[in-house]
Amino acid sequence: MSKTKSPTERLLSPVVEGLLRCPICKRRLERRSETFQCTGSNCAAVFPMIRGVPVLLNEERSLFRINEVASELRGSAERNALTACLRRLVPAISVNVAARRNFGLMSILLHRRTPTPRVLVVGAGTLGEGFGALLSDPTIELVETDVSLSSRVCIICDGHDLPFDDQSFDGVVAQAVLEHVVDPQRCVEEIHRVLKPEALVYAETPFMQQVHLGRFDFSRFTHLGHRRLFARFRELDSGVACGPGMALAWSYMYFLLSFARSRTIRRLLKAVAMVMAFPLKYFDYYLADKPGALDAASGYYFLGEKGDSPLTDRDLVRLYEGAF
Ligand SMILES: [Zn+2]
Repeated sequence: MSKTKSPTERLLSPVVEGLLRCPICKRRLERRSETFQCTGSNCAAVFPMIRGVPVLLNEERSLFRINEVASELRGSAERNALTACLRRLVPAISVNVAARRNFGLMSILLHRRTPTPRVLVVGAGTLGEGFGALLSDPTIELVETDVSLSSRVCIICDGHDLPFDDQSFDGVVAQAVLEHVVDPQRCVEEIHRVLKPEALVYAETPFMQQVHLGRFDFSRFTHLGHRRLFARFRELDSGVACGPGMALAWSYMYFLLSFARSRTIRRLLKAVAMVMAFPLKYFDYYLADKPGALDAASGYYFLGEKGDSPLTDRDLVRLYEGAF
């Protein structure tokens, strides 16, 4: 599941390289040794490669800077080692009750459209739960992207300005990503643009979940708020990905964390909270399909296909299936 790619595997296929576009002006990019240059005469932006990975950021509109990408990598490696150590010692309080099934369904639907689907993963730095169904299928070409470098990422880019031509992909995955972007609606518009007609999108986004990733955490969505983000898509399925049990466990943990400022004490409290609260997540297997869970979930998923007639807000509110 946590398969690590070698640098060679990260290399872009010639087809994907041909789909690359300037994140600033969307014109074609030309490879010049270790850089990509925009062919637009008024733009002519030059983008570097770090460890063989193109860094295609529109710095004027992105939170992220090209020269910060390499230093971010070192910091995250240290944080990940500590987190991994903690995770080995205590049981997880999180569970995703839908992802495995949903990625299985997405794989079947992708293959109904084409025998060799090309899927863009936005925010691929951390492997999402259940993603194995796509990962283990050699007929699916995954183009994994994120705003920082990791062993999985083959292009560094920002979801607000995806550096790809229109209609490049048969599917897009954005798992636990849209809460971390400053303008989720703009990111979904970019996802819509790079998808082929009737191609698939799969997103999971939190609702009742405390701040994670520190300063890079901006939005939460109700079930219908999440559906409205994807108003230009036809819904194939949507619902609870992480349920009320997980929401309660997170609330308990963050309640305890509110008492401490010191990092060491916070880590200790986190471990205590996880040991005390982890059984709550098992209720989610029972609760996930109940109407009340649609009002109280930790997070929702949406699986849809690209369409052109947008869902109106009056039609949106008719879709409410909670317990109110
Ligand atoms: Zn350009």
